Amino acid sequence: MKLIEGSLCPLSPLRFLCDEMLINVAQWLRVAGYDTALPTPGSPDRHLVDCSRAEQRWLVTADADLREFVCAPFYVLYLPGGDDEARLKELTLRLDLDWCLAPFSRCKNCNTPLHPASEREKQLFRPGVRGVSNEAVWACVTCRQLYWEGSHVRRMRSRLEAMNAWRDALRPPP
Ligand SMILES: [Zn+2]
Repeated sequence: MKLIEGSLCPLSPLRFLCDEMLINVAQWLRVAGYDTALPTPGSPDRHLVDCSRAEQRWLVTADADLREFVCAPFYVLYLPGGDDEARLKELTLRLDLDWCLAPFSRCKNCNTPLHPASEREKQLFRPGVRGVSNEAVWACVTCRQLYWEGSHVRRMRSRLEAMNAWRDALRPPP
């Protein structure tokens, strides 16, 4: 993995706090398996900075103001980008980010680690899901969401693999 000189945050395991403009980026990080927090909407910049330092998370932001904090060069990842696609790509290249780390091990809505759903959870969280799929089903106990290998999850897996292909640009030619 590419090292970031002088960084104060661990590169393994990578952990993130995304600003509230980057909810989509945060959700993709969670889908890939990274512990990724989102702030309460309206949190002041100082609060974001303090949280990221206290919790040892990279602060991923599209807000140029956050670069003004003294320690910003060491743990703020500023992604100007034009859109989420550009930001996801820049994040990938700057951290050599593996999007296939542990797909669908965290809830994309709330960051809670997922676990194999019990029959009771399947019935409680989404009655009828047993008829939808015989494959593995995972549950989030926090927001009572179920995930399973349907077409939506397959599309997201393909997207993760496509984002990993961006890293090939970093590899020396064979
Ligand atoms: Zn959840």
